Formats: sequence, structure tokens, C-alpha cells
Amino acid sequence: MLGKLGLAIIALGTVRASLAQTPRVSAPISSVSYEITADSSSVGRRQLGVVMSFTVTGTAPVTLALPAWSPGHYTLLWFARRVSQFSAQSNGLLLDWRKLDFQTWEIKPRSAGTVRVTFNYLADAVDRAVAWTAPNFAFFNGTNLFLYPVGRGFNWPAHVSVRTEASWRVATGMDSAPGTNNFVAGNYHDLTDMPFYVGRFAIDSTQIAGKWVRLAFYPAASLTTARRDRTFAWLQKLVPAEIAVFGEAPFRNYTIFQRSDTVVNGGGLEHQSSQVDEVTTSQLDASYLPGLYSHEFFHAWNVKRLRPADLVPYRYDDAQPTTWLWVSEGVTDYYGALALVRGGVNDSIGFFNSVGNEIASVAGAPPTAVSDASLSSWINPTDGSSGLYYPKGGLTGFLLDIMIRDATDNRTSLDNVMRRLYDATYKRGKGFTGADWWGEVSRAAGGKSFTEFARRYVDGREPLPVDSVLLLAGLRAESDTIREPRLGIATGTDNTGVFVTQLSPTGAAAAAGARSGDRFVSIGDVMISNDDSFDAFRTRYAGTTVTTLPLVVRRGGETITLQLPVRLTVRVQTRVLPIPNAPERGARIREGILKGTTS
Ligand SMILES: [Zn+2]
Repeated sequence: MLGKLGLAIIALGTVRASLAQTPRVSAPISSVSYEITADSSSVGRRQLGVVMSFTVTGTAPVTLALPAWSPGHYTLLWFARRVSQFSAQSNGLLLDWRKLDFQTWEIKPRSAGTVRVTFNYLADAVDRAVAWTAPNFAFFNGTNLFLYPVGRGFNWPAHVSVRTEASWRVATGMDSAPGTNNFVAGNYHDLTDMPFYVGRFAIDSTQIAGKWVRLAFYPAASLTTARRDRTFAWLQKLVPAEIAVFGEAPFRNYTIFQRSDTVVNGGGLEHQSSQVDEVTTSQLDASYLPGLYSHEFFHAWNVKRLRPADLVPYRYDDAQPTTWLWVSEGVTDYYGALALVRGGVNDSIGFFNSVGNEIASVAGAPPTAVSDASLSSWINPTDGSSGLYYPKGGLTGFLLDIMIRDATDNRTSLDNVMRRLYDATYKRGKGFTGADWWGEVSRAAGGKSFTEFARRYVDGREPLPVDSVLLLAGLRAESDTIREPRLGIATGTDNTGVFVTQLSPTGAAAAAGARSGDRFVSIGDVMISNDDSFDAFRTRYAGTTVTTLPLVVRRGGETITLQLPVRLTVRVQTRVLPIPNAPERGARIREGILKGTTS
């Protein structure tokens, strides 16, 4: 997953209420199918209709549960809370049922035969793990809707059919089955890892490294020709750089599901052959996007396939903590940034800036073991360490890469660790343990021990040895305290520019008299056309002694000049820079990292 750091995720508590009764193992069921209704009538009510059908061999109770979370989104969301009008019937007769806990239903068949379970699902949550509807559109994850029989494992096939308007599209990574809008999955893990878009959205596809890659964008107008061409050009560069790490593209095809409007949160959620991205309109044409695509795409290997043993197999009924999210998310961040520079989307300055931002994020957080930060994902801690496994995990991956290359005179790298771990664990049907990870790191580094490194910097809270390790790659970090102007606003973007969506009542823009809906023209001498313009504004007026700046906006057909009070806030900026005339060995390591090569 990738989200905005510090964005509070509202989750229900993790403490279970006492169970009415411990869910028992379900009677066996077979011939499982789901019919989802997402037509203009149902989405107009913000509802999805769900019918689950299956066969039973007798009258033993069937216990069915809905997941409590979606893999990749490490927080408990309890999808059952969105269910209404639950009902079960067989041969036209209603069956008795009762709830056993938050998410589990016990159904009592009257005879052998087919049972139909029906319910409505409230689809109004702006969250990339939760179903959402608009008057012409529906999005859902399988974890939201697909009940499973308790205690029967997940290795059973299922059919899905979608009932929708004849003129609406359906997109999913699931395999098609005969008929219209029919799909099939071989097991429950695959079934719930294939999100759906239904309705009016734009779709386009291209081939990358021999695989079809699709863009499914909502609203349809957000997929302009220019954005399509630009996005495909980025993917043509970054995807091969990611494939090169593992030596294969393990998906049959791949889909980027992207939803953009002013209410989305911004961020992505990975799946085995797709990513679901929420993009604010102000991010649509900003430099943020290729990094998001790259990060989520790398998850197709790292976490969807190469995965900590703690997460194999997924359980769906409760939290599944691991101390290894720093590898699953942080190292994904590292390779997401590397793929951009190795593929030629970004230059090395862009990559080193991302490392610099990680150094600053870690320095600004309380001393926290990155393994503890991983574990705490589920409780979204309030001490400033929430999500720290992203920047600290990414930085740790970078330092390990340098140390491995240094130990072998640049003959091996972290790429070797990722590839070997992928082959030795995922390809053999299992997850990786701490012994697997550190064993491969040590092996790649020619037998060098990382026991002390793990004890002090991964499982311990000592500051990472950033300066001494950067030196091995001919790099140094330099921090500046900068005072830069802040506006106190949230913005949206459409095809005519950037507008104000929210104002902090105590912010500079509110003090200037700006209003929600105002369209930006310029601030001082900086023209404002998208999210990146605000970076240019902050850089232009960092440390300024000017006390007010003209803020030009369009409001109701008029162009208005407001007087913006300049309010500077302090931020530490860290830059990573090549050391001029660094020893040849360090320069070689640095180039090897940027190019994905060894000597
Ligand atoms: Zn992620």
C-alpha cells in the first residue's frame, strides 16, 4: 500500500467483543457462485446486491464469514458492518440463521440441495479497500462481498457473474468464463484479490514485456490521450526495470484501476495482477504519479508473491501482524524509486532526493525499531511512528544494498537477495522467515554477518549508520533547515487548473480572504497550474523577508488580487549528494545501484 503519511485511518477497535459463540467449522459446501448486481438502480441507492449460491449434502449448519480486512491494507475494517437484509433460502423456503460474531453467520439447511444467501452491501466508503459507488459506477474488492465457509480452507473454486446495465463495462483481473460478465477463480485467495470496476469508465491497454497492461480510469474523462500516452511511456520504462530484479513477470496481465476526484484520499493498494489507486485531481498531472505506479507495481512480486511467512497463507478473520512490513513496504519503496531511475523516468537527482526525504522522515520520528513499526501498522500509533516502516525500511534497504556491494567489490547486490529469496520461498510455495532474509543478505555479501546490524538497527532503536554507509558509495547527506511559506489549504485540479477545496481557518490563505472554489492564477511571481506549482512557490519564497505577496484568483468570472500574509514554517530538508572525486570503488557502487548492474 502507499498512502499519505500521517493521514489518520479511522478503524474500529481491534479488541474483540466477547463472542456469542465460537464459530464452528462449516458443513462442507460446493459449486460456489456469487452474483453481484451493480446496475443504475442499485448504485443509485449506494448498494450492491449479493447472491451467494452453493450446494450442501445435508442439514448440518453452514457457517459463512466476511473478511475483516483486505490484504495490503493492514487495518481492521470489518466489512460485515456494511451488510443489510441478510437472508438465506433453499427450494423457495426461508432458512433459519443467526450471527455468531461480528462477521460470521450460521445457516441451517433443511435438506440437501442448493442454498441461496442474499444481502445488500453499502458501497459509499472512500477507501481503496472498500466498495464505492457513483450514479454510473461501482468499485468493489472481493474481500468486501465474498463470504467464505469457516474452517474449510480457501482452496476451492468459485464463479462470479456481474449483473449490470447492457451499456456498462466490467473490468477485473479474474479469468473470463462463458457468457457475458462471467468470471472464475481457482481459489478464494485469487477470488478476493481481483478488484472490479463496473459502469462507465475509460479503458485502454498496451503490451509491455509481452504482457497486456490495462488502464481503467474513473471518471472516464480523466483518461485523456495525453495522460494515456504519458502513463504507458512511464510503464514501458519502469516495468522492465522491475522485471529485471526477479527475472520474470509472474502475472498473465495487469490492470491499473484509477479513481480520481476531489474526495479521494490519495494512495494505492496492491493486488497480484492489479493496483487500485486513488488520485486526487491535483495529483493527476503532478510528478507524484509515476512513483505511485512504480511502488504498487513492484508489489506484484514483493508481498503479493514474495511474502513474510507471517502472512502465508492470508487469514481474513482478524489482524495478521508481521515484523517484516519494512521489507514488504519499505524495500518496495526503495525499488519503486530505483525502477524510475533505472528505467529512465527520473534522473539520479530524483532518486537521491527520495533517499534524502527518507533520511529526514526517519530523523523526524521518535527512535523506533523498524520491526516494531512494522508490527504496529494494525494500531496506527499516535507517537509519530505511524507508517515509519516505509521511509525507514526503504533507507535500510538502500544501506543494505551498499553494504552488500561494498563487501563483494560490487559483484553482488540487494537484487540478488530479492531474486534468491523469491526463488527459494515463493517459488517453493512458502513465505520467508527472518533466517531466510538475513541468510540471503549474508550470502549475497560473501558470508559477512549482519547479526549485529539486525540487532542494533532493525530490531533495535539505534540510529541507522547513514553517513558511514553512504560514504562507501561515494555519497554524503547534507541537511538544511529551511523556512518556507505555507498556505493552509487543500486543492483540487481539473482541466482548467487548480482550485481551493478546503481552507484552514487559521491559515495564510484564509487570512488573505481566499474562499473555497477560488481558482488559482498566481502567487507572487509563480504561476499555479498543478500540485507541483506549490513546490515551486515554496522554493521561490523560502526564507523570504517579504511580508505579503499578491495572490491572484478567479472567482465567479472575475479575477481578484488578494494580499497573502507570508507565514514561514521550519522544515529540515536533507539532500544526498555524490562526493566529487570519490574513490573509484564507491563511484562504481553508486553507478551499479542506479543502473541495476554489478561489476
Ligand atoms: Zn505498498
